[in-house]
Parts: sequence; C-alpha cells; structure tokens
Amino acid sequence: MSPESAWKATLGELELQMTKATFNTWLRDARLISADAGGYVVGVRNAYAKDWLQNRLKETILRTLNAIVTEPVDLSFVVWSEHNGAASPSPNGDASGPSTTNGHKHSFSSRPAAGNPLLDEDGLRNNGYRFSTFIVGPSNRLAHAAALSVGENPGQTYNPLFIYGGVGLGKTHLLHAVGHKCRDSGYRVLYTSSETFTNDLIQSIRSRDMAQFREKYRSLDVLLIDDIQFIAGKESTQEELFHTFNELHSNGKQVVLSSDRPPKAMVTLEERLQSRFEWGLMADIQQPDVETRMAILEAKLEHSQVYVPRHVLETIARNVRNNIRELEGALNKVIAYAELNGGSVDDQLVTMALADLLHYTEKVTVSQVLAAVANHYRITLDALTGSSRSRAVAFPRQMAMYLARTETDASFPQIGGYLGNRDHTTVLYGYEKIAGIIETDANVRRDVLKIKSSLYETVPA
Ligand code: ADP
Ligand code: MG
Repeated sequence: MSPESAWKATLGELELQMTKATFNTWLRDARLISADAGGYVVGVRNAYAKDWLQNRLKETILRTLNAIVTEPVDLSFVVWSEHNGAASPSPNGDASGPSTTNGHKHSFSSRPAAGNPLLDEDGLRNNGYRFSTFIVGPSNRLAHAAALSVGENPGQTYNPLFIYGGVGLGKTHLLHAVGHKCRDSGYRVLYTSSETFTNDLIQSIRSRDMAQFREKYRSLDVLLIDDIQFIAGKESTQEELFHTFNELHSNGKQVVLSSDRPPKAMVTLEERLQSRFEWGLMADIQQPDVETRMAILEAKLEHSQVYVPRHVLETIARNVRNNIRELEGALNKVIAYAELNGGSVDDQLVTMALADLLHYTEKVTVSQVLAAVANHYRITLDALTGSSRSRAVAFPRQMAMYLARTETDASFPQIGGYLGNRDHTTVLYGYEKIAGIIETDANVRRDVLKIKSSLYETVPA
C-alpha cells in the first residue's frame, strides 16, 4: 500500500473511532506531506492543531496507522498551508512565535524593509508595542515612567536608560514604545539587539567597512539595544559599543539598553562599560501582581472577537504568574481553542487549553493523583491500590495509571510501586487503555478533566 493510501485508510479508521467533533476539529484537514524512513509527516492547519495532535492524539493515530502499514512507522506533525506547498512547512508553526503570541497575525508593516516584512529599517517592529498598549502596575511603574520621559525628551532626562528584569516582563515592549514615540516625533531611531549589533560589527570588520558601521550607529538620535547581556565576554563588541556609546552620549543623543540583570551582575562586562551603563537611570521590572495580570488580559481581549468570561480570565491570571508572554500565550490558546470549538468557552475547554501550562507551573505527585482519582470515583485508597479486580475499582485504577503517567514524571515501574507493587506492563496496559478510550468516549474525557482540575486546584501556590 502506498503511504498515501495508508494515510487515507488511517483517517477513515479514525473517523469511525472518534467522535465526529474530535475528528472534524483535528483531523479532517490533516494531509500527508511526506513519508520516508524518518516516518510520516502530517501537515495541519495551525500550531494549535499541531500541539493538540502531538500531545493528545498522536498515540491513537500511530496505533491505527501502524495497524495498517506493514513496517512500523513514526509520525510527526507540521503546520502547513496551501500556499506554502506541500514541500515546505510553514516556519510559523511554532505556537510561541511572535506572529501568534501578539495576536497580530496579519498586521504587516506598511513600510516593509527587504528581507523581513515585519521589520522597518530602523529595526522597530510593527507589533503594537507602544505606550498606549502597555499596562502600568506597581511592578513596572518606574521603568514605564522613565521610558515615557525618555520617549518624550530623548537625550534630556535619563541617559542612558537601563531597563532590566526577567524574561517576558515587558523590556522589549518598552524599548519599542520609546522607539516608536521618538520616530513619530521625527528623530532618527535604531532598535537593535546586542546580537545584531555584534553580527553587524563582525560583518563590517570582515568587509573592512568600519566607516559604514560607525556612520550607521553614531549618526542616530536614539539608539535602543535590547538584551545587552549577550555582549558579555565579547571583547571587540564591548570595545566598539564603548566608543559608540561615548560618541552618542557626548552629543546629547539618547541610549536605551535592556538586560535580564543589572550591570553589576554582568560579570564579564568591562568595568568602563558597566560604569557607563550606571550613569543614567537603572529601572527594574518586577513580576506583575495579579491585578496587573488581570488588567493585561482584559486589555488583550479587547481586540479579540471571542467572549471569554471573567472567571476564566481570573483562572489564567491566577495560574500564570511570572511571565507576561506566557500569560498572553495562555489567553491566545484559550481563544484559539474556542474558535476551533465553534466560538464558545467553557471550563472544560479552559482546563484542556491550559493543561500543559498548569502542569508545567505546578508539579503534582503520584500520591496526589491517587487521592484525586479515589475521591472522584468515591472509592478508598486501599481499594485503589488493593487486589480487587471488580470493574468498580479496576477502571479507576487504570485511570490512576494514566493520570500518574501524564501528570507526573514518574516511570511506569514507579507508578506500579505506588499501586500495590503492580508490574510495569500492567501499568502500561492501563495507561494505553485509558488513552484510547479518552479519544472516543466523552464521559471518560469529562472524568479526566474533572480529576485534573481538582488536582490542580488543590496544589498550593
Ligand atoms: P521581555 O523583553 O522583557 O522578555 P517583552 O517585552 O517581549 O518581554 O514582553 C512579552 C510580552 O508581554 C509582549 O507581548 C508584551 O507586549 C507583553 N507585555 C509585557 N508587559 C506588558 C504590559 N505591562 N502591558 C501589556 N503587555 C505587556
Ligand atoms: Mg525582550
């Protein structure tokens, strides 16, 4: 059988196995893109479908496929769209990529530069990172105020402005906001990362064109360098940056820098640069409190067509604590799942959409899983781990095997240990059985969701 026919047969088989909704949502548009020794590559419409298939349906699909083909094959998913053609999966398949996380899938710059359509010549992205979209709270008040003041009067207040803080807390957003504001007022602006700066420098040294490099960086009114921590240990970059900085600064030009840590904590930073960085104002961004997180979610939602109930926003805000990019990602995920689900948001969908996230921020233990399962099916822990094979306990036990495997890092033998020293093959069997049923039985799926949500609600912060 050709791979194409095998895939068609698999789809046909799956259509029978699954609920109509599951099949239509996740598999109807799945196409076989290639099949070789590396396995079958299946193209799907978007990153959410890819995630979903990869994390939840892959085993079922693989089992069905391998029952059809003669030699066992592997299976992977890529994002694929008509105009890309079958041979080239979309590079935007990654759910964390900028085009999806910002919710600006189609907003291309009106002045595209060659190469990257999202980049203007001044390095500023047309991504909505402006002051008007920046939510101010106690965690970022100082950095915001300083950035705004610099944006209004570049070179005249804090120079340099050094913004530092952890990942996903708004440093790049603020740098862009300054850049856009200055550009709108007619200043010559350049936004760059320290990596681009370094690469530019290396290129210029290679092509012996330092004059052009200096012209580019020293003729600006406002230079914004993001993630300056990456110049640590790069001597010639530091040397050049030192001169660039001096030239701009002494001419009253503005420099804004961001870093994931304060200058003092950049150990391989030359002292003279460190002291330059500390000349102006150092403003840190802390993790946002829950009110700020709520406000950010509400602001993001204004631009969406989907209605998300307030208590859902609160669930997201409560659970995603220390990174605004993840906060947005969680909201986008809920919205995307809702769209695929016909536009409505319910608790079940939210638990599904956020399962990975919740899992990854809060680890649960096997004992907690067992307790939650026993509680859900109203049986005792002793019965769950005991030897009875009656269906009333055997099914919950298999559920416990399944959830212990998906929700904790425990191995099959370890899980067997918790369940009254059962053999790992028994655990594996139980796990696979439930994994299979989940795809076809809505009641069991609901059980899983309920147990999962009880599990994550009881985990202390
Ligand atoms: P960093 O550069 O510190 O890693 P980013 O500036 O890239 O973080 O921010 C991550 C995401 O969170 C961006 O999409 C940004 O728009 C958003 N964000 C961060 N802080 C805020 C805020 N105060 N208000 C609104 N959105 C924010
Ligand atoms: Mg950044």
